Amino acid sequence: MIPVYLLLAESVLEEEREMILRAARELPAVFPGCEVRVAGQRSRVRYAVPDVEAVLEKVPMEDGKRDASLLMRLLVADTRRLDPAGIWLLFLGDDLRLSSLRLSWCFGAASTGKRVSVQSFARFRGLTEEERFFCLRRTLRHEIGHMCGMAADRNRAGVVEDHGPHCSRPGCSMRQTGTLEKLLAARAQEEGREDCFCPDCRADYRRFVKKTEEMKKKGTE
Ligand SMILES: [Zn+2]
Ligand SMILES: [Zn+2]
Repeated sequence: MIPVYLLLAESVLEEEREMILRAARELPAVFPGCEVRVAGQRSRVRYAVPDVEAVLEKVPMEDGKRDASLLMRLLVADTRRLDPAGIWLLFLGDDLRLSSLRLSWCFGAASTGKRVSVQSFARFRGLTEEERFFCLRRTLRHEIGHMCGMAADRNRAGVVEDHGPHCSRPGCSMRQTGTLEKLLAARAQEEGREDCFCPDCRADYRRFVKKTEEMKKKGTE
């Protein structure tokens, strides 16, 4: 099993927390072989998580935003030590910018090799409940997809360069949706499909699972 850790900052509202839990329930079906661990929720297994608020303190708000690049860099120092084979997502209510790609704002960002990502609710807060839930789920599976190496190979068929490598296949959740308008438009194309990822991104995922299993085996030898 590949653990997917969901970390929630204090800036996440109660209603958003409920949505995260709802979206988390479908993850094992979307990413077979994954096991979701929500920080602060009761669980069969004991595990340690980073002190999120302590990390956030080191990344102060600037012009109403926190730098996702710096956040991920600090988080990974903890996550590498706690569970390097795990996939880590931090949710927060604060708006984000991404200094590494010189983006003045972003919904979220993921570091493929380091298996960490941060996601913000700030840009979704004016939407209807249904839209908010779609945006959350879609961003969640997109960022997990990045961390699982989906559409990461620039030489793969269907991969295009658009703020980092992304899939160009219609209906695939690894397409780049850089604006709220594009993100909401993806709903009509992606919802109701048998698979929200294209066959090539699926194949990328299977390779990732295999690689992770090998990595874990080596770790326990
Ligand atoms: Zn992306
Ligand atoms: Zn794809």
